[in-house]
Amino acid sequence: MSLSSAKALRMWVDFDGTLVEPNVAIILVEEFARDGKRLAHQVDEELHSGKITLREAWERQVALLPADRMAEMASWAVANTPFRSGAKELLALLKKHEVPTSIVSGGLDFYIGPILQRAGIDLPVYSDALTFRPPSSLVLSHPFGHATCRLCGICKAQTVRDAYPDDRRSIFAGDGSTDKYAAEVADIVFARRRLKTYCEESGIPHYPFEDFAPVTEQLRAWFEGDEPLPAPRQLGLVRSPCPISRALAEA
Ligand SMILES: [Mg+2]
Ligand SMILES: [Zn+2]
Repeated sequence: MSLSSAKALRMWVDFDGTLVEPNVAIILVEEFARDGKRLAHQVDEELHSGKITLREAWERQVALLPADRMAEMASWAVANTPFRSGAKELLALLKKHEVPTSIVSGGLDFYIGPILQRAGIDLPVYSDALTFRPPSSLVLSHPFGHATCRLCGICKAQTVRDAYPDDRRSIFAGDGSTDKYAAEVADIVFARRRLKTYCEESGIPHYPFEDFAPVTEQLRAWFEGDEPLPAPRQLGLVRSPCPISRALAEA
């Protein structure tokens, strides 16, 4: 029970719209791109409805950002990105029980790093990356992308399943369309917003949340109470369009 539960688990937390309230990429485009309010939501909607892939969405959003203002954009993101209510308590509980915890994000390193640093949060971050290439361009890369999947940027499915070679079971908390690839292969899923809908429609067992209080409460019941962990996830019924998450779930 308590001690062994914490030792058996590993936590993965999505960033935009999960650990923090906004989707930072979207508010950056809204703030820094010409006609950003309209364009940011247009790209997000096309991504969500499956008209474009995540990689295409990123290419289009990045093309809208002013390349010579990366530092300014990062500072603006730090000042304008509130953490989700209960985030501090959740991370404190995970730390107390020494549950290895990582950020897994389809977002970009150049704002995630400074936002975490400002909050005094020191966790491994798995995300896409944006770098300035003189004289005037931004280059997007996918250091945790899959070699053969052209759909995803970071491969959340592979990262959650294979980033650490141990047999800890994975808990994943997320909110967005791209989180379904991780939710398809995680052992325990906490879901809000679009991910919650996807889990409901796909029959993925999940714990709904809005702020983090019920997440922390559930983890406390496993770590400190008598509540047993849920039975191991039965994978295989995967609806995800990502070939990698399908393959991992069927493996
Ligand atoms: Mg998200
Ligand atoms: Zn993929």
